[in-house]
Amino acid sequence: MAFLKIENLHVHYGAIHALKGISLEVNQGEIVTLIGSNGAGKTTTMYTAAGILKPSAGKIIFEDEDITKLDAPHIVQRGICLSPEGRQVFPELTVKENLDLGAFLRTSRERDETLEVVYELFPRIKERMHQAAGTLSGGEQQMLAVGRALMGKPKLLMLDEPSLGLAPIIIQEIFNLIVRINKLGTTILLVEQNAKMALRISSRGYVLETGKIVLSDRADALLTSEKVRAAYLGG
Ligand code: ATP
Repeated sequence: MAFLKIENLHVHYGAIHALKGISLEVNQGEIVTLIGSNGAGKTTTMYTAAGILKPSAGKIIFEDEDITKLDAPHIVQRGICLSPEGRQVFPELTVKENLDLGAFLRTSRERDETLEVVYELFPRIKERMHQAAGTLSGGEQQMLAVGRALMGKPKLLMLDEPSLGLAPIIIQEIFNLIVRINKLGTTILLVEQNAKMALRISSRGYVLETGKIVLSDRADALLTSEKVRAAYLGG
């Protein structure tokens, strides 16, 4: 059974043809990384899978259901949640209120159960639950954004640049958490500038260039590929 299957996806922003026929698959239980330069279309791919952008052509299949035309809340309901780039937590709301927003489609019992899991994964977030989210450090806001996406109890968690702008020690912590979340049973689609670290925790990866997939392989093969090393891994 296809878990997530994207077939020949085209997305336009007005006259800009951002995705030019992308096809990719994510199997249940995997961590899959999308790598590519700025503007390649990584964020557009995730936003389209989340139902925030609508494709001009192509299909998105999740658990054998065609979700291409579903709106974002229905896609969350099917089990796909996005933690967007730039964190986008609500700075005036408390940490707990931000987390509750991630569970807007869940019963209060489900919400409380998931909250326990999120607090267990992110003890620093628990300690700060009554604090305004805008007063958290960059790393803590990133953890909160991931925690908020987890509150939707996703089967597939999409993480857009989770390490962006963070100190190396915090980046390592975020990657360790991604692995733990995956081991707890959540499939992960990851977009990362930090391609080396992302591929090290992934089973497979796709390389995007100007709206097209130019390479896809097992993560270990991408890590040793001359082309990928030269273009994305710093030689
Ligand atoms: P980055 O790593 O810089 O975030 P990306 O691979 O995520 O890059 P996208 O943000 O998906 O790339 O952008 C793909 C293309 O679509 C780019 O050419 C970008 O300029 C264009 N684009 C993205 N958002 C918009 C928008 N709202 N309006 C017009 N063009 C857009």
